[in-house]
Amino acid sequence: MASAVVHYTAAAATDRGRKRSSNEDAFAISVEHGIFLVCDGMGGAAAGEIASRMAVEEMLRLLANRDPAKPLAQAAGEAVRAANEAIFSRSQRNARLRGMGTTLVGLLVEDGRALVINIGDSRCYRLRNRILEQLSVDHSLVDELVRAGRMTPADALHSPLRNFITRALGTEREVTPDIFAFEAEPGDLFLLCSDGLTRELPDPLIESLLGADSPLDELSARLVSAANTAGGNDNITCLLVRAA
Ligand code: CA
Repeated sequence: MASAVVHYTAAAATDRGRKRSSNEDAFAISVEHGIFLVCDGMGGAAAGEIASRMAVEEMLRLLANRDPAKPLAQAAGEAVRAANEAIFSRSQRNARLRGMGTTLVGLLVEDGRALVINIGDSRCYRLRNRILEQLSVDHSLVDELVRAGRMTPADALHSPLRNFITRALGTEREVTPDIFAFEAEPGDLFLLCSDGLTRELPDPLIESLLGADSPLDELSARLVSAANTAGGNDNITCLLVRAA
């Protein structure tokens, strides 16, 4: 069935939270090119900020200038490899930046065709018919232990291991992203976010906040403010994309 999605609108909010002195999250929106990205950087000093900013800038540049004849998933995979190489080689040239990296979650759309790219523990959710579904799979140690049946989801929430992510952009010479392709439908609402949101707010609360009939900029600001009220222990970024 051909999709009836005709256009997308987007808005985002980011905040350093209540405990961190800087914001190492970064995001990018290009409605024109159908590119929506959230990155959560890591590394000492300002390295995390540099890694996340490089990732969104490189991905945006590469994807906005992609060969339109190339399948979107192929273009996405190539952009990830190039962005990874750019961050990794910069970290190798500068001792202060050694080990820097970032998560990457992206939503790419072409008419009704949509694709989620993911590396790390930032997330993509979709609200469809008022039901929230996580489309990305976390690359985190606790998530892998839960999937292997070696840790309960309740224990995972408080585990000291929860900061370990098992895949990141820029920390190794090569990285493989998860890529999920699907059809977007009119009315779909997508949320891209860093873990500063999802560690503070349980999914049912995110679902009910997203269900409000409000403009996207108000919705994203409301999510950030709820995460701050719940603790604000980390940088918080929410990027919303609505299909109509
Ligand atoms: Ca974070």
